[in-house]
Amino acid sequence: MMLDILDIRTLSFTTMAFSFIYGVGLIVYSVNHRKFPGISMIGIAFLVLSLGLFLLFLRHYVSDFISIIVANLLNLTAIVMIYEGLIRFRHAKIRWGGYLGPSLLIFVALSFLYFTYYEPEVNTRIIILASCFSLEHLLISYALFYKTKQSGGTANTFLGLMFLLLSVYYAFRAIFTLGEAELIDFMDAGFIHAISLMNIQAMVLFTSFSVVWITSNELERELREQARIDPLTLAYNRRALEDVAGVEISRVMRNKLPLSFIMCDIDHFKNFNDEHGHQVGDKVLVNFCAVLKSNIREHDFLARYGGEEFLVLLPETDLQQAFAIAEKLRIKTCQHRMVIRRNRAVSITASFGVAGYEQGMTDWRLIVKAADQALYQAKSSGRNKVMVEDRAG
Ligand code: GH3
Ligand code: MG
Ligand code: MG
Repeated sequence: MMLDILDIRTLSFTTMAFSFIYGVGLIVYSVNHRKFPGISMIGIAFLVLSLGLFLLFLRHYVSDFISIIVANLLNLTAIVMIYEGLIRFRHAKIRWGGYLGPSLLIFVALSFLYFTYYEPEVNTRIIILASCFSLEHLLISYALFYKTKQSGGTANTFLGLMFLLLSVYYAFRAIFTLGEAELIDFMDAGFIHAISLMNIQAMVLFTSFSVVWITSNELERELREQARIDPLTLAYNRRALEDVAGVEISRVMRNKLPLSFIMCDIDHFKNFNDEHGHQVGDKVLVNFCAVLKSNIREHDFLARYGGEEFLVLLPETDLQQAFAIAEKLRIKTCQHRMVIRRNRAVSITASFGVAGYEQGMTDWRLIVKAADQALYQAKSSGRNKVMVEDRAG
């Protein structure tokens, strides 16, 4: 067959070079992306693979022990390391998964010794190794489809499918070899065996490509999230508020559920800054924000509206409930003692204005405006108060 011209020695050499280059590439990449675990492990696995392939390439020039037993054990070790690297990368906790690889390695080591020295059989060795490769690839595919916090998206699905396909290929190769005439020399094995080296190239290429793809997705997601957060208080910023408030208002227009806003402002904060300095002022802002955050519900939304003004969005909450929440926030705020330096603790008060969605409103800024007016009243009637918008007015 024409495809038989695919020469195993040449393929071993090119696949070796391929794994080496991608291995070095991934290791360098991992140095600049330290927050993603497992990438360096995959890079090292590719280097181990390139060494295994190099020894395979030397078949007949070095001892069988090196070019058959050590070479194949290195190749299988590389696949086991890729599994370990990928589960670290994905934060997948598959407890039993770690046992399969070492068990397969021991099995291959013993059976290869037997089928190389006592009863030399190329076919049996291929069947054993292909079956082990198939199982380990299946495990990798499982690890990639295993549900974790890091979804990985399309790239991950793509990689999972590739390992599944490769697992099927190795299983097919094992079955195919069962029915094949006894091979005298692996270097003369036909197309179906030569293709396994090409599959290794594909695996190295797609794994590297997908890992880089997934990290770049993850970094992009983080960047987008950071652009929505106020760096000092870690509350959401105005940009996030615009998005969320827009969505909330269109939701209440559809489902007719109530929606309330609380606008909060620290009392006499300017004096506080003048007396204690801006840095202490910043610390107070962080503390105030933490008090607010820990006293609202999970699906409520807290944004820093301006300097020391915060806005709380309360979905499915009517004015009366919002008033009760604001009152709780007011009390928690004035009860909270903040240590500003040794032996010196202070507390602050804040004023709150509450307003709610009214039928016919199409702009959330109208609720902010009403809450702001209520806040102004709270300020002018003595501070440390909660006022609700005056609907009649
Ligand atoms: P009122 O009770 O009427 O709200 O009085 P106030 O002093 O809090 O009001 P005003 O709005 O005049 O002052 C707000 C002050 O908040 C002014 C500014 O120095 C301070 N501020 C705004 N942003 C920050 C910040 O990020 N850090 C610090 N330390 N202070 C800030
Ligand atoms: Mg203020
Ligand atoms: Mg203010």
